[in-house]
Amino acid sequence: MKAAYQYKSGFVAVMGRPNVGKSTLVNALLGQKIAAVSPRPQTTRKHQLGILTLEDAQIVFVDTPGVHRPRHKLGERMNEEAQDALMHCELVLFLVDASQHPTDEDRLLASRITGLHFAVKTMLVLNKIDLLPANSAQELTERQAVFHALLPQADVFAISATRGDNREALLAAMLERLPEGEPFYPEEQVTDMFERDIAGELIREAALILLREEIPHGIAVRVDEFTERGDTGAFISATVIVERESHKPIVIGQGGSMLKKIGSAARKEIETMSGRKVFLELRVKVRKNWREDERAVRQLVG
Ligand code: GDP
Ligand code: MG
Repeated sequence: MKAAYQYKSGFVAVMGRPNVGKSTLVNALLGQKIAAVSPRPQTTRKHQLGILTLEDAQIVFVDTPGVHRPRHKLGERMNEEAQDALMHCELVLFLVDASQHPTDEDRLLASRITGLHFAVKTMLVLNKIDLLPANSAQELTERQAVFHALLPQADVFAISATRGDNREALLAAMLERLPEGEPFYPEEQVTDMFERDIAGELIREAALILLREEIPHGIAVRVDEFTERGDTGAFISATVIVERESHKPIVIGQGGSMLKKIGSAARKEIETMSGRKVFLELRVKVRKNWREDERAVRQLVG
């Protein structure tokens, strides 16, 4: 059945150097906290989707990690994802901090957008205008001009993600620029929890390494909970799923010793991956022949 109105949908890449307020803006638009927000740069390790479903539109925000010089594997992955986000989006929001002068990193990011071999609609968003001296329209106009010079093809918006200035106007402008299309995700889904999936993979990897040939196949991991706990890190609760009743005691081990080892190895890996402390809780469950169950396979990491 064709709707009377045209539904709009698209991916919006949120770019900008660390700390300009990308996560804050996405969270504010979604009305809930998905991306980690922190006064420390680089809290966003993985790209995270924030999915905003409205009556007649769906916007999928890709909260990109800042493009930076990779120091380790995770850094490389982050850079690839930042590039990838640009390739697969309909719109780029290039966020800058209006309370500061452009930095080298702003220039670098702007040049990456300008230098793309494909054209992508870009909106330059000056955030944190609440930090500019009140009643200083001149200061804002000047700041707008210097940032606009970095990205002349972009439309310019001035907002405060925290105070809310022009947030609705920005949203309306994004919707105007999105193409017609069907929603990408179910309306109740607000994120794709990328980091959560990786955590599941790392737990499975640790289990496979420690169990060696004892359980050759048929181990899956389901992450049941992944909660941010601010400065104390993340809380993860996961289930190791085995195919046979006889596998369960092997995974648990003498007095729980094997499960403890798996948990501790996986926790270290997840901490390295995400750069923060992790509290990991594991349990084991039997689900007969889960590999034959297509739905289960799609749900589980395995
Ligand atoms: P990201 O690294 O770009 O994702 O930045 P975050 O969203 O983590 O924000 C970095 C810091 O800037 C946090 O302390 C935010 O509270 C703060 N911040 C974000 N937006 C605004 C704003 O509009 N005004 C002010 N004053 N602070 C903001
Ligand atoms: Mg962030």
